[in-house]
Amino acid sequence: MKLLLKEDVAVIVLDVRMPDMDGFETAQFIRQHKRSKDTPIIFLTGVNSEQEVLEGYSLGAVDYILKPIPPKILQAKVAVFVELYRKTQQVKRQAELLVESDRKRLAAELESREELARTNVELERANADLEQFAYVASHDLQEPLRTVAGFARLLTDSYRDRLDDEANGFIEFIVDGVARMEALIQGLLAYSRLKTEDKDPEPVDIETVVGLVSTDLRAAIDAAEAVVTHGRLPTVIGDPIQLTELFQNLVSNAIKFRRLDPLRVHVSVSREDDEWTFSVQDNGIGIDPKDAERIFEIFQRLHPRDVYAGTGIGLAVCRLIVERHGGRVWVESEAGKGSTFRFTLPAHAGSRNPHAPDPAAAHEETDAAA
Ligand code: ADP
Repeated sequence: MKLLLKEDVAVIVLDVRMPDMDGFETAQFIRQHKRSKDTPIIFLTGVNSEQEVLEGYSLGAVDYILKPIPPKILQAKVAVFVELYRKTQQVKRQAELLVESDRKRLAAELESREELARTNVELERANADLEQFAYVASHDLQEPLRTVAGFARLLTDSYRDRLDDEANGFIEFIVDGVARMEALIQGLLAYSRLKTEDKDPEPVDIETVVGLVSTDLRAAIDAAEAVVTHGRLPTVIGDPIQLTELFQNLVSNAIKFRRLDPLRVHVSVSREDDEWTFSVQDNGIGIDPKDAERIFEIFQRLHPRDVYAGTGIGLAVCRLIVERHGGRVWVESEAGKGSTFRFTLPAHAGSRNPHAPDPAAAHEETDAAA
């Protein structure tokens, strides 16, 4: 009994008849202790003692052997229980190992998540530094640039006649470079301002926005003999200035990257569940699908500057604006086949649905030359 309190055993072989405490009392005692409550008990009992056998079972005996005991049988039975015990221990150990490796895996996962969070914080800081740098640099660059521009103008105004053609050509290069630099700085400023700006969103009527953009770009549209049309467009929630800039960039790109034949630009929208998908479609030079992703990155352009002027900032600004409004932007195009720039914006409950049945103009395409 003392041993049982301290150690696990595989099986107990118990005589039913014993001098002080009989086997059944002993079994009850064994069962009361946590350590031995499930330990198999084999009772050794006399012949013709059916009663004892039944009582033994009721106390949780798992087997009995009739006396006189055949040594081989005893050995065999004990061996079975010892084997069972070993197997059980093995399973327990494996379960523990599993739990342990699970714990280790979880710990490792947690560690890598923390690592990721740390990297994120560092990245955010680096990003903030870069934005700060872009802003300060573009701001501070403006001043010396104005000086260069001012003196270049003075040179042309006051010395043109006294300089030869070559010198005047050089001055033209300076003026041209300054103009490009100004455009770049303006673009950079607009881009970094977008990153920091945070205004309360308000309802914005996109039809009005597209009208404004067309008015703004009137001169360029007329010069290109382009026709800009749009279907019915909804009201969304956002920043009116940014959304105007978005359409302005897309439409002016369509004008810039046109082919020789008459340019048509069409702005339309479709709705799916709680999302608008806007499309700005042109019949211009198109974009090779392999460049479709890259053009949205800042400073990425597909053409030499002397063919199409530009800074490569416009579409990066577009992407930033769309993402800040909770949408995605992409282009569908083939080289030479025109391009369709599409972007999504969340549709808010109660926003005007241009595709809702309209008694006045049921299903009619409501194109309007803007
Ligand atoms: P930028 O117009 O100053 O070059 P953007 O970021 O607006 O810069 O555009 C990046 C590039 O994407 C352009 O240089 C051009 O190659 C391509 N692109 C943009 N819009 C169009 C379009 N409507 N049709 C064909 N190519 C386009």
